[in-house]
Amino acid sequence: MLILICDAFDPSLPDKLRRFGEVTEDPNRLPEAEVALVRSKTKCTAEWMAQARKLKLIIRGGVGMDNIDLEAAKARGIKAVNTPKASAVAVAELTMALMLALPNRLVEAHNSMKEGKFLKKEIKRTELLGKTLGLVGIGNIGHEVAVRARAFGMRVLAYDPYVKQSQSAILVASLKELLPQADYVSLHVPLTEETKGLINKQTLSLMKDGAYLINTGRGKCVVEEDVAEALRSGKLAGYATDVYSSEPPEPGNPLLSAPNTLLTPHIGASSKENLLRIGDEVVKILEE
Ligand code: NAD
Repeated sequence: MLILICDAFDPSLPDKLRRFGEVTEDPNRLPEAEVALVRSKTKCTAEWMAQARKLKLIIRGGVGMDNIDLEAAKARGIKAVNTPKASAVAVAELTMALMLALPNRLVEAHNSMKEGKFLKKEIKRTELLGKTLGLVGIGNIGHEVAVRARAFGMRVLAYDPYVKQSQSAILVASLKELLPQADYVSLHVPLTEETKGLINKQTLSLMKDGAYLINTGRGKCVVEEDVAEALRSGKLAGYATDVYSSEPPEPGNPLLSAPNTLLTPHIGASSKENLLRIGDEVVKILEE
């Protein structure tokens, strides 16, 4: 069996996989591979699969399957699986880092220090204590964020039409109920027809004036132009995001020139510990 590692995994993984067969990182060997390991970089389109004539299994190290054409895989008899639980803590910690960085104005404080300015009087911070966090989606990651936010003394609400009960958040029935109450809104939904453009001009208008938005879900869950406009008008006090409508973002992406943003290059799952956990889940999948 030939296992093709397409994207960045922990460097220890190839050795752990050799007992299952030959392991290669050479993309030219796609036509011979029976198993392909991908993260979010490789786009497993119908054309990509057409080249992968022997492929039986795609393992997505991570959660989102939106880079895999699942219909095309099914039609070709290729099984596609992910590692659903591994990344929750890694993404939740990045979400907390972003949620702490925004009201503490860390980017501005750091940049001004580098510019030789000491803005002790000018930089006003706010606290998370007593604020309301509105989670959109309370699956594995949303739950881990809720637990951490509660430890900071936040009230945590969540909107998730597919979840009937939660131990970590107060469930609300609609976005319309969630958004006007939240000082912070954080997105933890997969990209689907339903969630595409979920945060747009209309839903942004339901949010509190001066609220913060955090997105470690998927870039296309927001209409980036509308978010940029909300930042310019002050409707949003800040937008921290790890994900973009196209990655890397196009040079003209409106977020790159909008004020009060905090941008990271899709590193939510990329903690050292998580890459090891993902590798362990990949091994378990191959053992089954
Ligand atoms: P999960 O499947 O455990 O949870 C997703 C939740 O979203 C589910 O509870 C589901 O019911 C809910 N949901 C679906 N449609 C919804 C809708 N229309 N409105 C509200 N809720 C809805 O997945 P997870 O592990 O928590 O991951 C969530 C997403 O985070 C992934 O799909 C992926 O897109 C993203 N992610 C990003 C990174 C990163 O590096 N930034 C890493 C991992 C995952």
